Order: sequence, then C-alpha cells, then structure tokens
Amino acid sequence: MSSPINKNSPDLLPLRALIVEDAEDDALLLVRSLRRAGYDLTFQQVDTAEAMAAALAEQAWDLVVSDYSMPSFSALEALQVLKQSGFDIPFIVLSGNIGEETAVESMRAGAHDYVMKGNTARLLPAIDRELREAASRRQRRRAEETLLESEQRFRSIFLNAITGMVTLSGDGCFLQVNPAFCKMLQCSEAELVGKSTYDFTHPSDIALTRRLFNEAELSQRQSVDYEKRFVCKNGDTLWVHVSTCWLFDDQRQVTYAISLVHDITPHLQAQQEIRQLAYFDTLTGLPNRQLFRERCADLLAQAGKNPVGLIILDLDRFKGINDTFGHDIGDQLLQEVSERLTDCLEKRAILARLGPDEFAVALPDIDSPESLSFLAEKILIALAVPIELNDQPLYCSASIGLALYPTDGGNVDTLVKHAGVALHQSKEQGVGSYRFYSPEMNLATSQRLAMETHLRQALERQELSLHYQPQIDLASGRVIGMEALLRWDSSALGSISPVRFIPLAEETGLILPIGEWVLETACKQAQEWHQAGFDRLRIAVNISACQFKQPDFVDRIDRILQATGLDPRCLEIELTESIVMERSEETLLTLTDLKVRGIKLAIDDFGTGYSMLSYLKYFPIDRIKIDRSFVRDITTDSDDAAITEAIVVMAHSLKLKVVAEGVETEEQLEFLRRCGCEEVQGYYFSRPHPVDRAELFLSRHFADNSK
Ligand code: C2E
Ligand code: MG
Ligand code: MG
Repeated sequence: MSSPINKNSPDLLPLRALIVEDAEDDALLLVRSLRRAGYDLTFQQVDTAEAMAAALAEQAWDLVVSDYSMPSFSALEALQVLKQSGFDIPFIVLSGNIGEETAVESMRAGAHDYVMKGNTARLLPAIDRELREAASRRQRRRAEETLLESEQRFRSIFLNAITGMVTLSGDGCFLQVNPAFCKMLQCSEAELVGKSTYDFTHPSDIALTRRLFNEAELSQRQSVDYEKRFVCKNGDTLWVHVSTCWLFDDQRQVTYAISLVHDITPHLQAQQEIRQLAYFDTLTGLPNRQLFRERCADLLAQAGKNPVGLIILDLDRFKGINDTFGHDIGDQLLQEVSERLTDCLEKRAILARLGPDEFAVALPDIDSPESLSFLAEKILIALAVPIELNDQPLYCSASIGLALYPTDGGNVDTLVKHAGVALHQSKEQGVGSYRFYSPEMNLATSQRLAMETHLRQALERQELSLHYQPQIDLASGRVIGMEALLRWDSSALGSISPVRFIPLAEETGLILPIGEWVLETACKQAQEWHQAGFDRLRIAVNISACQFKQPDFVDRIDRILQATGLDPRCLEIELTESIVMERSEETLLTLTDLKVRGIKLAIDDFGTGYSMLSYLKYFPIDRIKIDRSFVRDITTDSDDAAITEAIVVMAHSLKLKVVAEGVETEEQLEFLRRCGCEEVQGYYFSRPHPVDRAELFLSRHFADNSK
C-alpha cells in the first residue's frame, strides 16, 4: 500500500487508530502527522487498561500506537490487553528514548514495531507495512476459514448423502467411503477402507474398471460416467452408475479419484419389466411379434448355406373353445399349447406368440425341407393329444403353414406373410394339417384380396341376388318351404359360389349388411308369394354366427317382419351347429326371443360339426337339416345310412322335425322316406332358381300331390 498523500483526495485512506498515550500533546502530534500523511483518521486516546479494553470492545480498530511507558499504564500491559481481546491489530510502540532491550522486550511481547517518538519518517512506512501485513493475515485467515467450512460441508454431505461417495487412491484402493456406499455393499467402513475396489467389483466388470483407470491416465480426462456391477457382502449383484473424477500428479498419473455411486438396480429392474411387457406375451411368457421379428431377423442375417425354416401355426376352432368354455379355459389351453410347442423344439429354435391363437417358430440351419415338415408333424401330433382342463378333455388341433428362407422370402415380414398364406391354404384343406408355401398360393391370396374389394361394392352395385330352392313335404309331395340362397354375379369376377365368398364376408364383417339384405329380400319375397296365393309358404334364411350374435339381432328381425308384413311363423332361420354348441346364456335368450315370436329355428348341415343331438334339447329348435354329405352316400355307404337313420330316430325322440338336404336320386328319397324323414330338399326336385323359375315350380307343386 503506497501512502495516500493528498488530503483532499476522495481516495483518502480511512484509518481507525487507538492511541495509547497519557500526554495529550504527544497524541495530537501523532494525529497530525497521520492526517498529513493522507489518512482519513478516526482515533481515540486511552491511557488505562480499562479504557483500552472498553475501546477495543466498542469498535473495530486498524491500528494501535502505544507510548512505551506511562504513569499508570505501559505498552507491555497494553499488549496484554490487546492479546486478551483476541483481535489481530498491528501494534506499534512509540518511545521517547529507545533502548535495544526495551525494543526487544516489546517485540517479544507481540508488538509489531518499535519507533522513536517524533520519527515520522520511520513511523509512517512502519504503519503502512503493518497495515498491509495485517490485511494479508486477515485474508489468509478468511481463506483458511472458508476452506475449513467447505471441508466441513463436504464431510457432512459425504456422511449424509443418499448417494454412495468414495475416494480412491491411484491404484483403486478405497481411501474414504461414505455410509450410503457402505450400505449399498452391506459392509462396514472398516471392511472397505484400504481394500481395492476390484475386490468388490463383479468379475465380469473388473476389466472395464481397470481400462477406465488406464484410459484416464492416457487421455488425462477429468471425469467419466459408466455403469458397472459390485458384489455385495451377501453375494447379491448390485448394478450402479458411477461418476468418477480423476486428479493427476505431475507425472500425469492418477493420484486420487472421487466417485459418486448410484444404485440403479431398481431402475434396471423397471427397465427389464418394461422390456418384458414390450417384448413378451404376458399369458405364455413367449416372445411377442415384435421380439420375434427382431430375433428372426438376426437368424436370417447369420444364416449360412442351409435354409432357415419358418412355421406359422394357428389353432383350429380356438375361438369356439373360448366362447364355449370361457376365457379362463381358453387361457389355460394357450399356456398348455405353448408348453407343448416348447417341448417339441430344439433350444436354438425361436418360438413366439404372434396373435391370440397364432404361434410362430423359426428354426435355423435346417438340412432339408423334410426336416421342417417332420417338425410340423411332430407339433401336430403333440397338439392332437386332448388337453385335460377342468376334468374334461379338450381337442384343439392346429393348422400349419411353412416357409423357407431364402427361397420363400428374403426378410422376416415376407416369410411370415408367405407362411401365413400356406397356413390359410392348409386350413382350407381341412384342419390339423400343414402345407409349404408356393408362389401359386400368393396368387390365391391376391385373388382373395381382389374378391374382398369387389365384395365390398357388391351390394351397392346390385350384384347380389337370391335363388330359392323348394323344400318338399315327403308325405304330400307338396312344396312347403323355400330356402333362400345367396348368389353373387360380380361384374369383375363373374359368378362366385357362396361357399367361397360367404366365409370371406364373415371374416371381413361384410356379412352383416349382406345378411340383412338377404333377410329383408327373402321376407319380402315370401310375403309377395303369400299374397299371390301361396299361403303359409315357409321361407328359410341362412344366418351366420356373427349376424346372430349382434345384440340387436332380434330387433332387426322385428323391424324386417314389420316392414314386409310377413307372418313370423312363416320365417325359418337356419343356424349352424357351432352357435348352439356354445350353450351360452345369450344364445338361449336370443333363440327363446325368436321362438316366442313364432319364428322357426333349424340347425343347418347337421352332423358335420361336433354337436350332439342331446345338446339340442336345451334349445327351442324345430328342425334339423341332415347335411347332404350323409345323404349323398346313404345308398352306398352303410355307415352314412346308419348315422342318418340314427339322427332321424333321435331327432324324433326329441320332437324335432328332420329335413334331408341334397337329395339327388330316387333311391336316396326312398331311403329317407323309410327312415321317417319328413321333408327333403335337393336337385332331385329342383335346383335353387331365381324368383321366376322358383315361382313356376311353386305354382306347379304348391297344392299338388305329385312331384
Ligand atoms: P346350405 O345352407 O347348406 O345350402 C344348401 C346348399 O346345397 C346350397 O349350396 C345348394 O345349392 C346346395 N344343394 C341343394 N341341393 C343340392 C343337391 O341335391 N346336390 C348338391 N350337390 N347340392 C345341393 P349353395 O347355394 O352353393 O350354398 C352354399 C352354402 O352357402 C349354404 O349351404 C349356406 O351355408 C351358405 N349360404 C348361402 N346363402 C347364404 C346366405 O344368404 N347367408 C348365409 N349366411 N349363408 C348362405
Ligand atoms: Mg341352409
Ligand atoms: Mg346345409
């Protein structure tokens, strides 16, 4: 600090001096010379220990200047008072006569300098110097205090942090460990300090940790974040996220590292759960479609010269089982199926659940297509064994489509699609079979697609029509009913059989508007016939399961009956066996609702499904229609003859009427007559015809006894 000389300057240096002096004049002299030297002086003069102590306590001082000896006080005593106050204030002794001894004594007692009274030339630089030194002492003290404070703060954070904190030596030994870290590793501080971090690191992560220490030295990077595993005292693995800061010495070696350690085990568990949900089917625990695509793509990428086989499997009639026995049984069945499939497969195969009742298998490195068909057969056999659920055996066969990589597709999606096409074909072939994909099948699929597109427009383009086939009462030979059969004359695709387009309409939901149209048209036609004199002629209309299951099905029928004016007793609804098989409350309610209106109920194609006649007694059914596949062979196949006979007998015992479908010959007719079958329908009498021709037949045979 240079002496601030100019008294008028605004930069005058403030100085608070405590003057220990008994002689007023001497004190004023000192004051004057200090002011002259440029200090903005405030001062107080004291000459006793008490006055000095009071002055020190009262305000802060920059400087004490003390006379060496006074009548009732002395510089040495003043030094004592200062010392007791605890303040670090420069203390300069002034004396009239200076002796070396007193000087030494004063300095020893703690004075900072010793100056002859009146020797301003020496006093001012001494004050200047001492003020400077006192300032730097103060600064140092503040720095030390700050450091201490920060150390204490760090210590408290270190001790109380919920994050693990450790300091490590350059070779990876724990120097300090905080309680949170000890808790994570389930160790005491003593068990960790001095030990190497590698002693607690998971064996698989030791190399990683070492590499990070080495790389830090090589790159001189200050910090690094990474994830690793520790092994806790009880042997558990602990996943942690570590942030490490390195401190280097002059030789660029790590001398010291400080790490923050976060336990991320719960985080990883959550991640694992999310992964499980995103990639696995919760019911069977199998990979889902997404994971299958990824894993299968890996298989294809690694495939050698041998093909990769792909199997798509779909359970036959699973929906029926689900609807009939409930979802619990359905779920158990799927679990059992997934176990059986797993048992059929080698470890390297990938099994996944793609849809509700759809599974996929990818098998790498197969030596020939035969080995894939062998596997398909093995699976079909395993699934053919009935599954015991709730003490009842359930039969759940499957259909399988097969495709090979690379011949049938170069990527997973194409392979899955093509195996799906093959699956579809194998289903059409009959349940419980398998087929390989062939390019011609693809053609069939695209045709199906085209058919769907055109079917969507069929109604509005008026391409649909109804043909009617008479139903004959065997006893009288009279036409007593007409079955309405749907026809589609597509402008684009030509005439298409209902056997082909009805299943498609059912799959796509198009059957709902189409079925509604059929019902309305048929009822209207029947009513017209009634009005034309064909009184009480019955009209039979085929109803698909999905139509029947509409919650407002009965309302729809009511509306149509009302609109057309048809007597409900002249409407017969033909249902498939599967509907009745469900035996559900809703089915029974709907059937009863129809029944109370007088509507007749018939079971179509009886014998082809799995229903037992005894089931029918639970339902208000009027008639069963023996499927034409039995009728076809009654005169040649004794089994079919026996079955037909049995059906008629049992139906009668349940008070059900029987219609035989597909009667083509006189012999068949005779056999049926002998059995006691009441009604027949078939080409022998008439094919299904458009309204005009049907009406012609009707006018000839409605009241007639002859054929
Ligand atoms: P279905 O209800 O069993 O109808 C009887 C089928 O047998 C008709 O085939 C009929 O033409 C045929 N048929 C009748 N007599 C003989 C015969 O003596 N010999 C032979 N070989 N066949 C005979 P179509 O018209 O091709 O209908 C096939 C199936 O399509 C129907 O079987 C029915 O299940 C369904 N279907 C037809 N129209 C409709 C409809 O409007 N709605 C619904 N949901 N299904 C319909
Ligand atoms: Mg029918
Ligand atoms: Mg039928």
